[in-house]
Amino acid sequence: MATGHGKKQVIIVGGGVTGLTLALTLQHLGIDWVLLEGYGSVVPAVGSGIGLYANGLRILDQLGIYHKVAASGQTTESMNYFDGTSGELITRRIFKSLMIKRHGYINMFLLRSALLGIMYDAIVDKERIMCNQKVKRVETTEASAFVYIEDGTIFEGQIVVGADGSRSTARREMWRNADEQKPGWIPEKDRENKPCEHMCLFASAGPLKGVSPGDLICSAMPGKATGLMCNPDNSIFWFWFWTLPPSMRSVSLDQIPRPSEEDIQRELSSCGDTIVSPAGIHMSELVKSMENQGATALPNYVLKRWHYGRIIILGDAAHLFNPLVGQGANSCMESVSALANALHEHLGPDVGKTASWPLKTLNTAFAAVEELRVPRLEFMVSRCQDAMHMVAWEGWFPQFMLKRVAPLLPLPTFLNSYSELIVDGVALNDRFPRAAAPHEWLYPEERSEQMGYSVGTKAGIFGAALAATVFALSFVGNGWKYLPITNLSAQGI
Ligand SMILES: Cc1cc2nc3c(=O)[nH]c(=O)nc-3n(C[C@H](O)[C@H](O)[C@H](O)COP(=O)(O)OP(=O)(O)OC[C@H]3O[C@@H](n4cnc5c(N)ncnc54)[C@H](O)[C@@H]3O)c2cc1C
Repeated sequence: MATGHGKKQVIIVGGGVTGLTLALTLQHLGIDWVLLEGYGSVVPAVGSGIGLYANGLRILDQLGIYHKVAASGQTTESMNYFDGTSGELITRRIFKSLMIKRHGYINMFLLRSALLGIMYDAIVDKERIMCNQKVKRVETTEASAFVYIEDGTIFEGQIVVGADGSRSTARREMWRNADEQKPGWIPEKDRENKPCEHMCLFASAGPLKGVSPGDLICSAMPGKATGLMCNPDNSIFWFWFWTLPPSMRSVSLDQIPRPSEEDIQRELSSCGDTIVSPAGIHMSELVKSMENQGATALPNYVLKRWHYGRIIILGDAAHLFNPLVGQGANSCMESVSALANALHEHLGPDVGKTASWPLKTLNTAFAAVEELRVPRLEFMVSRCQDAMHMVAWEGWFPQFMLKRVAPLLPLPTFLNSYSELIVDGVALNDRFPRAAAPHEWLYPEERSEQMGYSVGTKAGIFGAALAATVFALSFVGNGWKYLPITNLSAQGI
């Protein structure tokens, strides 16, 4: 088949966080790649902020761009929960030093386009990023994978990585190839409707009285919640969540809905009375000055099967989070790391120089990625959904936990629900520099290296944390899952 571009090792479909992280990773490993993006640029001027945690930041550090990201971002200084109706301050937490001590990095947020811009700048051979290349079809064979673009161009590669988001064409094509060649390979569960309990509006807005750079604010109320984060120039990224009626809480992956104009107008007019600042300022102030607004439905899922033949899907195409906590993009980076590590492990250290990647070996490598990632992601997606239920006060129990229990928790206990999502993060292997910032909670590769030390240290930390948690929650049974865990530094796209 004439492709006109020569056979690449990796064809990446999609130039979002997943695609660009993978491009940078492959560049470092000396693997031949091309990235195909459907739109005219991988650094779109649209979108809002994105929050980053230690599990993502340490990967950016390994890729050599952490310091640029930190220089463009705003570190999280305080986390504030309000009752959005009465304006009562539920709890205010300042956790920067404890987060750094535990994980080596403090959470931060920045414009999503700024993050993508830093990633793009770090690509040496920019001709590998090809825009206006909308993929419509993918084929996988014994020896190659082929990607067909809408304009008739064909690309050939050893593998195709679908990094094309929740409405993924690569996923659809992976399913089609599998159905034709190996019926039953894709579990029925992956094709079933997915839960979609919430939608959200997001936008930027002008400064707000009483809110300072680095403040994160969550106003909670029945069936609704806001999230605000304040940038270095005092501008605000905000988002507004609402709970959908039960009849709308299930969506097909082929037809993820978008909020209608009617939904958007209804929510914009109803959110105005919510109190969002210590000075008693209302949401209507933010609506008045909003710009770059968007709206999205918020399904959540972790697919069981990520690969067939020479195709693998990563990022939102394979796992989708409620964005309240802000672990979606961080998890995309982790999944990229898992794939890079598996290619290296199974195809050998000279993977970049190997002309042909056997299909059988790829299968083993891809299966290892799934095996490593799916259980962790299921835990994380479910915890992030619990967090959404808590701030949207879905029932008396989440409301009680946030209003009455959370303020009583000692800071380390309060932070455990964040740390639990960070500490098991997958990073790039030792072909990449190890991120240097000292930290007390060991990451997986450090735990396996330093078993003796890690068991003792972590047992001590976990023991103390567990005792405090049990003490605080023993009287409310299943309360652990409603510990506060809100990012508010999280509005992208
Ligand atoms: C409101 C909101 C706030 C969020 N906040 C945070 C946060 O604070 N922290 C965090 O970690 N995560 C956050 N997330 C999640 C995060 O934004 C996503 O997990 C992440 O951006 C997904 O990246 P991706 O590259 O997998 O997919 P996408 O960002 O969807 O990128 C896919 C790319 O593929 C391209 N594409 C699609 N189809 C084709 C095709 N057929 N051919 C070629 N190209 C194609 C698209 O144009 C796009 O560029 C948030 C999400 C939302 C909705």
